[in-house]
Amino acid sequence: MIDIQILTCHQDNYCYVVHLNGVTLVVDPGDAQPVLDYLERHGCTLSLILSTHMHQDHCAGNVELKRLTGCLVVGGDKRIAAIDVVLAGENTVAQAIKSNLSGLDVPIEVFYTPGHTSADCCYYLSPQGSFPGALFSGDVLFSGCCGRIFEGTMAEMFNSLQQLKALPPETLLYCGHEYSLANYRFAAQIEPDSAIIGNKLCDLQLQRDRNEKTIPVSLQEELSTNPFLRTNDPALRKALKMEGATELEVFTELRNRKNHF
Ligand SMILES: [Zn+2]
Repeated sequence: MIDIQILTCHQDNYCYVVHLNGVTLVVDPGDAQPVLDYLERHGCTLSLILSTHMHQDHCAGNVELKRLTGCLVVGGDKRIAAIDVVLAGENTVAQAIKSNLSGLDVPIEVFYTPGHTSADCCYYLSPQGSFPGALFSGDVLFSGCCGRIFEGTMAEMFNSLQQLKALPPETLLYCGHEYSLANYRFAAQIEPDSAIIGNKLCDLQLQRDRNEKTIPVSLQEELSTNPFLRTNDPALRKALKMEGATELEVFTELRNRKNHF
């Protein structure tokens, strides 16, 4: 039985509470209070924090949550607040924490996805029954965009996205911020004649007007609309007048344009 709840932290950060095989864990608590309120309201005990990266808006809540609950903090970067276990090439969270939390069944796959910082990780929950699988992508992959490249290189971020693209298309994307509307405004500027992007932008505008979250979204939808995942798409390449370029060159052009959007 898997259940994922979305909490908002700060202005537009998303933190996720995951109930998985009787275990409660959170991904990227940028602020402890919304998580503490949730735990109290639902009477559950926090066992684990998964951090995608070291930026404070994603991990500042770790310290207080660990102090109050004794939970274990796991991530790919020793700079993450209150980190207990630094992931170092393990394929699953379970492998990394087996000596710390032997009783917990947390079959979560780890993807090492540098680019935004030098040590981002994304976490993948595989399908179970009617649950189609979920990807917690932090600031690596957003709906409609990818994260800014602060510490890594264009090639690193491009390669990280290729790993995520290969997941099953029905996977639900749970990313680190509510940035979808701005991202698809950029996509529509790049491809003003695309009906699919025009429709997506209209839908997002309506959702945001109603103050609704635009997350989760399926990877399938991202694959057909997110320009940063479509560097091999002839229509996008034509719009950029980059038909003969490599995928990395197309990606680099997109990222540079988005930086100045
Ligand atoms: Zn970040």
